[in-house]
Amino acid sequence: MRTIILGHVLIGLLFSCTDSVPPKKTVPKVLKATSVKASFEKLKDTALVSQFNLVDVQSLNKDIFVELKYATKDNFMGVILYDRLKKAYLQKDVAERLSKVQTYLSQLKPSFHLVIYDALRPVSVQQKMWDALDSLPPVERGKFVSNPKNRSLHNMGAAVDLTIIDQNGVPLDMGAGYDDIRQIAYPSMEKQFVAEGKLTAVHIENRDLLRKVMKSQGFRQLQTEWWHFNACSRSEGLLKYKVLFEEP
Ligand SMILES: [Zn+2]
Repeated sequence: MRTIILGHVLIGLLFSCTDSVPPKKTVPKVLKATSVKASFEKLKDTALVSQFNLVDVQSLNKDIFVELKYATKDNFMGVILYDRLKKAYLQKDVAERLSKVQTYLSQLKPSFHLVIYDALRPVSVQQKMWDALDSLPPVERGKFVSNPKNRSLHNMGAAVDLTIIDQNGVPLDMGAGYDDIRQIAYPSMEKQFVAEGKLTAVHIENRDLLRKVMKSQGFRQLQTEWWHFNACSRSEGLLKYKVLFEEP
């Protein structure tokens, strides 16, 4: 089955990152890179921390596992999209919330772990995904990958793609895979697929567990991707956080 990443349309407007109001209500100046790839390749992890206030999630909580799909060929494009990014980086306040999610999950299911598939994703990578789907008309393309010009909370380290693995290290069966283009991956259409017998009670139970633990820290699930959660709205994110690189 061919899979394509679904649109990272941001719907977090209902949830607000009010726990840390930015001192200045201005959109931070986006860094200009003369060569996105070169700049990102050169950027050291220490700079991610010092310049962007990003945090390696596992430095906060080692019970969270990381399997960055775009750092491998195991993704919808079948190529490595970011060579140098080996860790899952999120904004510090977002990473702290996710750490609490894992703590809550451990209370509910002591042997279960969050597994991050994608966290911080530079605009340059977003551009690669966008370009890879250039056979589609722009309107259709936007359903699968958000236009890099619009930014994604992934570009700020304020969105995360993840699932849960069980005591055997096996990902819970969500009834659709990561980056699955089909509507069966849509949380918004679960009732229909249950009625049609295409999603089982176990699938829903597993999705509900992921939703429950993520919602406990205010993360909002994208209605077209069971794996994608926003930490706040895009407008809030643009006020609070820096975007990691525009395209040149
Ligand atoms: Zn995502």
